[in-house]
Amino acid sequence: MTESGAEPTIFERIAAREIPADIVAETDRIVAFHDIAPKAPVHVVVTPKQGRYRDVVELANGDPALLAELVAVARDVAADLSDGDFRLVFNPGGGAGQTVFHVRAHVLAGGLEEGSLAG
Ligand code: 5GP
Repeated sequence: MTESGAEPTIFERIAAREIPADIVAETDRIVAFHDIAPKAPVHVVVTPKQGRYRDVVELANGDPALLAELVAVARDVAADLSDGDFRLVFNPGGGAGQTVFHVRAHVLAGGLEEGSLAG
């Protein structure tokens, strides 16, 4: 259980090392790991370790410093794993493809084709 009493999300469980993932970067509050179903040569999920914020809008309003930290980790991942150029994709809302309500960003990098966006 989390401090809110809810079941931990899959991303909280990855951050806690309860579910294996290929973690490529982390800070005290952020974790970044390779997506299990990559949609680009480099496809890394970057997310807060705690699932307090459902989507990027809530995160921006509730803790803008944490959002800035997430973006900085995304930048570092793109620099470390590719040439530093990257797309940063959020999918807030079920209609945009979100199925787990724990904010995360997709870093897409490395040989991106025009118009290739992750779902
Ligand atoms: P979204 O819901 O933001 O569109 O995408 C969530 C992403 O998490 C998906 O791209 C999916 O492939 C990835 N994902 C879901 N479960 C796991 C998992 O257990 N391990 C890893 N590494 N990625 C996952």
